[in-house]
Amino acid sequence: MTAASTIPTVGGGALRPMSLLAGRSISLVSGHGSTLVDATGREYIDLVSNYGVNVLGHAHPAVTAAITEQAALLPSAHQSFGSPVRDAFVAALGATLPRELTQVCFVNSGSEALEVAIKLARVATGRTRIIAMHRGYHGRTLGALSLTSAAAYRDPFAPLLPGVVHVPYDDLAALEEALEGRVAAVVVEPIQGEAGVRVPHHGYLRGVRELCSAAGALLVTDEVQTGFRTGSVLAADHDRVVPDILCLGKGIANGLPMAVTVCTEAVGASMPRGGHGSTFAGSPLVCAAGAATVGLLADPALSARVRASGAMAMERLAVLPGAIVREVRGRGLMIGIDLRTPAGPLIAEAQRRGVLVLGAGRTVIRLLPPLVIDEVTLATALDCLAEIIEGAAAA
Ligand SMILES: *Cc1c(COP(=O)(O)O)cnc(C)c1O
Repeated sequence: MTAASTIPTVGGGALRPMSLLAGRSISLVSGHGSTLVDATGREYIDLVSNYGVNVLGHAHPAVTAAITEQAALLPSAHQSFGSPVRDAFVAALGATLPRELTQVCFVNSGSEALEVAIKLARVATGRTRIIAMHRGYHGRTLGALSLTSAAAYRDPFAPLLPGVVHVPYDDLAALEEALEGRVAAVVVEPIQGEAGVRVPHHGYLRGVRELCSAAGALLVTDEVQTGFRTGSVLAADHDRVVPDILCLGKGIANGLPMAVTVCTEAVGASMPRGGHGSTFAGSPLVCAAGAATVGLLADPALSARVRASGAMAMERLAVLPGAIVREVRGRGLMIGIDLRTPAGPLIAEAQRRGVLVLGAGRTVIRLLPPLVIDEVTLATALDCLAEIIEGAAAA
């Protein structure tokens, strides 16, 4: 490496984004509902919603109005000052969550929500061991990365947090064994997202809850991806499980950077003053978007619609040829199509035909459409996918 010149040469157009991703080759300009428009004016049906973020679709009028109004009034104010829109967000979110969860900490991303969860687990229990799951994904800041299991994400940055062990997902016996000794917390996704939409057996989450309670370990549910998406507010609601600590992110402000860590009174009471902080977190602008979003997400009619669209999608996908499709998994509008072949070429072909879908692992096509997608549009996109998958099976 050559030493930088002591006299700086400024600019020159050399700055560019670090290449951290395999790009998509189209440039997005606008969107409405479940439609995205690229720089050439071409329209796409969006079953990605920015990795599950745009739950109410793109540029939802109520969210846009809330953002615009707040932007003109006061976009930013540190949390040391009160804010009526922050109060409104807290009230709206609280109305949707189990009553046991009484304290909320604002952050800016899902990863940070897990950072706060780790801190809370340590101070509330006085313990440091944490159990996470094989194939679990919890983000890529160093603490969250310690919980994430994929070697490709972890290994370049080792050593990570000490005391974290990973056990097989959907395996209560393995968890019970790992819980011997003093464990601060068990961190689990109610449905694993990045891992390829893995749905555990019915009773698993309840079993995890019971094992945690028996061992004096806290249960942390990472619902950053599953929140509002599975046909109920929380995916854990299906199993009537209440965690000690809950992480939410992605969709809660329909695309503005907002995430929260929510916990019980007892856990929250253990956090010291100054135990966490963030310059931008809980700003009036994101809270306005969050309050508008959560207000709409709380409508039971939307959850019912998610269940209906999800059931329709699962029914259509169930008839795909077993020669190429290993399994279709999911709940609500979080669906994985596990193939016997790499998913990449099929995802690229779908994009060429005007349908955006997501990968998860090497062989899974993941669908995380906006929750408001209408059934005709969803069916059109699924027909296109089916044609591509059947074509690949015939090839
Ligand atoms: C996306 C995701 C995260 C990380 O959220 P970021 O906002 O990308 O930091 C954490 N957990 C789960 C389950 C996720 O899907």
